[in-house]
Amino acid sequence: PEDLEPGVIRKLDEVVVNRIAAGEIIQRPANALKELLENSLDAQSTHIQVNVKNGGLKLLQIQDNGTGIRREDLEIVCERFTTSKLARFEDLAQIATFGFRGEALASISHVAHLSIQTKTAKEKCGYKATYADGKLHGQPKPCAGNQGTIISIEDLFYNMPQRRQALRSPAEEFQRLSEVLARYAVHNPRVGFTLRKQGEAQPALRTPVASSRTENIRIIYGAAIAKELLEFSHRDEMFKFQAECLLTQVNYSAKKSQMLLFINQRLVESPALKTAVDAVYATYLPRGHHPFVYMSLTLPPQNLDVNVHPTKHEVHFLYQDEIVERLKEQVEARLLGSNSTRTFYKQL
Ligand code: ADP
Ligand code: MG
Repeated sequence: PEDLEPGVIRKLDEVVVNRIAAGEIIQRPANALKELLENSLDAQSTHIQVNVKNGGLKLLQIQDNGTGIRREDLEIVCERFTTSKLARFEDLAQIATFGFRGEALASISHVAHLSIQTKTAKEKCGYKATYADGKLHGQPKPCAGNQGTIISIEDLFYNMPQRRQALRSPAEEFQRLSEVLARYAVHNPRVGFTLRKQGEAQPALRTPVASSRTENIRIIYGAAIAKELLEFSHRDEMFKFQAECLLTQVNYSAKKSQMLLFINQRLVESPALKTAVDAVYATYLPRGHHPFVYMSLTLPPQNLDVNVHPTKHEVHFLYQDEIVERLKEQVEARLLGSNSTRTFYKQL
């Protein structure tokens, strides 16, 4: 029809643009926690404490003993694309830190009330600053404090009512927070992690400093899993990867599937690898039952693309199919090696 009018195209307001982008990166409290844990690890912390109120929706606070943030950087630290980690695009191929694009704190400041308290080794006192929509609010105030950083996030999604409504269950959000923390704790046993619900005397989760992966699995996931763990590493020259694995033998199984996967220290998901590993176990475990699997893969950084997903949950890597196949073979061989007698016995 002739009377159809095209829409008028206008540029969105900057605050709207930032809030939309932030909502993609920070989908729920657990995404925020992942970003904050990675920042604390990037800052070489050995102690990381997380405090939570209402599943992280009311308060998500993380305290570390890392490098701290310089006073002069507090001005811009929450702006989008401000980072101390990446300088040139080419450096992304060699990136050794979790962060690289300076979006986490900015995003959080667009969807929550954010404050940072921090002290570096050089400065005599600490500073506390509050942020809104990427900008420093007022001036940083001098304060006492130990070296390190406390990031406090309050009223997450206060300005996104639909999102808030979708996240109705603080218990579920807390569960997801503790899953993220648990995984990082298993992968980083040198660092001590604590997770607390505000107001509760006992921490919900705590691992000691200078622990081990097996010990942390025992503390967090229980002795039934820890005592069935089979440990192996595998180095592959052809497809250029190294794998460290801790997985349960076929005597153990659970209704809940647990796969902790790290690629170049990053917590990621790989449906292809999970399916492959599950297929190996399916031969041995009762129907609908699953193993506990921890895998840490190390690839040459130039074979890995970390910049494919806003939450960085997904990564792309070279030789993916081949690597998955090799790992599958490894798991199969190791399970057989350690369990041939028991499986035989069971089949009688
Ligand atoms: P990125 O991690 O991609 O650089 P972020 O928005 O997560 O972006 O953080 C911005 C910057 O703030 C970091 O590059 C780092 O310099 C600093 N920073 C954030 N959290 C911490 C922390 N816990 N300890 C020390 N510095 C931090
Ligand atoms: Mg970061």
